Amino acid sequence: MRAFGYTVAGSPADAVRIAGSIPNSAFVAGGTDLLNLMRDGAESHDHLVDVNHLDRAGVTADHVTLRIGGSARMRQVADHPVVRRNFPVLSQALLASASPQVRNMATIGGNLLQRTRCGYFRDAGSACNKRVPGSGCPAIAGHNRGNAILGGSDHCIATHPSDLAVALVALDASVDLLGPDGRRTVPIADFHLLPGVTPHQETVLRQGELITHVNVPRTPAAEHSRYLKLRDRASFEFAVVSVAAALRMDGRTVRDVRLAFGGVGTRPWRDPRVEDALRGKPLTEAAVAEAGRVLIRDAVPREGNGFKVELVQRALASILSELGGIR
Ligand code: SF4
Repeated sequence: MRAFGYTVAGSPADAVRIAGSIPNSAFVAGGTDLLNLMRDGAESHDHLVDVNHLDRAGVTADHVTLRIGGSARMRQVADHPVVRRNFPVLSQALLASASPQVRNMATIGGNLLQRTRCGYFRDAGSACNKRVPGSGCPAIAGHNRGNAILGGSDHCIATHPSDLAVALVALDASVDLLGPDGRRTVPIADFHLLPGVTPHQETVLRQGELITHVNVPRTPAAEHSRYLKLRDRASFEFAVVSVAAALRMDGRTVRDVRLAFGGVGTRPWRDPRVEDALRGKPLTEAAVAEAGRVLIRDAVPREGNGFKVELVQRALASILSELGGIR
């Protein structure tokens, strides 16, 4: 690993000031992804700013919003009684992620910023537009079983690996940011970027900006929500396909539905057209099948990941059947 500087920040403002003034710096908290990438040469920073000791680790809730500190640990959030009761999809997504040891260390902010599991990205000896802009994307014609079928470009088809982000997108969460230019709030659906011609730019974060909090609105649908994760082994594995679903029924009619998908898109994937295919209609097998067809309408499967086209539709049908019952 290349040598780097290290500072322990005493406050969020302190952290932002340091990171904003040192080029090629990064924040570190749990370090469960960043340090592996730096050790393997897939990511390199001249300076790390330790944000473990800032006052942003709490989880609070009122009757409107769940507010999660950026350095709250995954386990802490998954086990929180309000999260378990009122936002089960969040708790389930967190518990389906990583291992107990990692969940004890990894933070909510870091989870949203973790890098893709595309093998070419993590192999410093391979070309990869995301790691080295302009070097190419060997995944498009190579090993792409784990890559995206939605939202890709000629420059990158990597999926975003976070289960939590998929659940937050389904629940219309937002992210509070603090940077050298002040505070701002960004809808989580706009936080991660499509790859386009700049796959190395993954989020809207500016130099020195820190995730201070995640806000999740309380809704009746969120209380009736689930996370379904399909993966190659039962633990410590990333999603091949996942679905976060929140559903509110009025008799047999869908009153409110929110759906987001992991493992299939280049960012946590939400398509309003899929929800429109279900909202206000009876929840039938035919309606769910139509929603699935809408979801994959723009899919671009590759040689190794074409199976996801059918798998994600089956996952959607399964989770809606569990949540709402289908006749
Ligand atoms: Fe790199 Fe993206 Fe291509 Fe993977 S899919 S090799 S991350 S550019």
